[in-house]
Amino acid sequence: MVAQERAKFADLALKIFMNNPPVDVAGSSVRDYLAWQDRIEEQGSNIATQICIVTGKPITDSRYWECSVCRHKAYEHELRAFKNCPLCHATIHW
Ligand SMILES: [Zn+2]
Repeated sequence: MVAQERAKFADLALKIFMNNPPVDVAGSSVRDYLAWQDRIEEQGSNIATQICIVTGKPITDSRYWECSVCRHKAYEHELRAFKNCPLCHATIHW
């Protein structure tokens, strides 16, 4: 990529993020996340299985589906479009 193209993309990226500033979709701060992580570890749970495999968000309430094969979780409303576990491809039984 030549320098002129690079500058064009940098300008475009700046314009996009100035008009649409990034938002924390989980609605939490790093401090909230670290507190959640401490709670999960105190419970002796594997942190990887406490993260929604569709969105990557921490599972913080009880409206989730758990795969009977890989034991990973996903928020139910995020999983509606799937017929198989996004991680291990096991069939989803509701
Ligand atoms: Zn699975």
